[in-house]
Amino acid sequence: MLEEYDFAAERAAMVAEQVVGRGITDTAVIRAMSIVPREHFVLPEYAEFAYSDGPLPIPAEQTISQPYVVALMISLLRLQPTDKVLEIGTGSGYAAAVLSRIVREVYTVERHAELAEYARERLADLGYDNVFIRHGDGSLGWPEHAPYDGIIVAAGGPKVPQPLREQLAVGGRLVMPVGRRTSQSLVLVERVGENKFRQKKLQGVRLVPLVGKEGYR
Ligand code: SAH
Repeated sequence: MLEEYDFAAERAAMVAEQVVGRGITDTAVIRAMSIVPREHFVLPEYAEFAYSDGPLPIPAEQTISQPYVVALMISLLRLQPTDKVLEIGTGSGYAAAVLSRIVREVYTVERHAELAEYARERLADLGYDNVFIRHGDGSLGWPEHAPYDGIIVAAGGPKVPQPLREQLAVGGRLVMPVGRRTSQSLVLVERVGENKFRQKKLQGVRLVPLVGKEGYR
């Protein structure tokens, strides 16, 4: 079934149209999205839509984010190859796989055990061995490996969780959708000093809710 599709060609077209075509210029992001096989991160019945311009359902009533949203959020972090990144909301593991091709280490937290397991298997099968997955409430971060040069929250919450600000390295950046359960604005936080943060509100997005102690109940 999967062999009927030329996924490499679809991937190249996705990157050209949805990523580069919409103004993403970070070459590391473009390169990573050109190599990570998104068709392996969607449910088998959605494989033919793997490179479509939108989110797709994954188990536990969650979604794999739209490719452009993944590209935009990662490029806002301005990552370097030596960086250590924290992702909240592993979901399918796709964004973690993209991040793993850009930075040295990726730590990612998922609240649904089923998804954490699903992502762990996929990433292992594909040989992405610099991704570390934890099952738990990511609104509290993953303090044991802090500080992080970049933090990406793949689910929308009412505010930027304080534990995540604390786990950001000085000079590091965090990107997260903040707003209501059904629609949010991307917020970019930069830690410019030990106690100094700069915050900017960017465009509107719709991601699934961040459910946890520092998210929605
Ligand atoms: N990055 C993912 C997108 C997944 S959608 C991908 O590439 O597929 C967001 C994910 O955040 C969902 O899987 C959801 O279960 C998870 N999530 C929501 N609240 C969370 C929390 N408090 N801690 C960890 N994960 C959470």
